[in-house]
Amino acid sequence: MLKKLALQLFALLAVSILCGYVFASVKLNFLIGFFSGAVLQVFGFYLYASIINLYVVLKSKKLEILKLREMSYQSVEVTCPCFKQIRDFVPFRFNTANYYKCRECAKTVSIHTTTETAVVTEPILSANVDPTLMEKLKDAIT
Ligand SMILES: [Zn+2]
Repeated sequence: MLKKLALQLFALLAVSILCGYVFASVKLNFLIGFFSGAVLQVFGFYLYASIINLYVVLKSKKLEILKLREMSYQSVEVTCPCFKQIRDFVPFRFNTANYYKCRECAKTVSIHTTTETAVVTEPILSANVDPTLMEKLKDAIT
């Protein structure tokens, strides 16, 4: 840590002295070149660190959104059997036993699934119905 700080300070001074000599070579004041080089380096490093920090925050948010999206594909909404009936959204996998801990009563609850089937039907309004009957049906609905 201290070695890294000393190295950064050395680099700052070296580049600032170089800026001072460049200013002096074009008949300007060495100190103005030295300090302007130092200020520009500090500002540039601050800008670079801010951009990197922003990039890391954006990447972190994207990963968090991706994690939530993937979790939504593999999660189910459950209700705790305790008297509080707390609803929760917990991870679920078909190849393992599934348990979760209720956030209110702190009891471990197992999750079991049942499957149901239903015939897919065509909605009535899109079926081929006589137009006059359809008008009467629309009037009855509204
Ligand atoms: Zn509970």
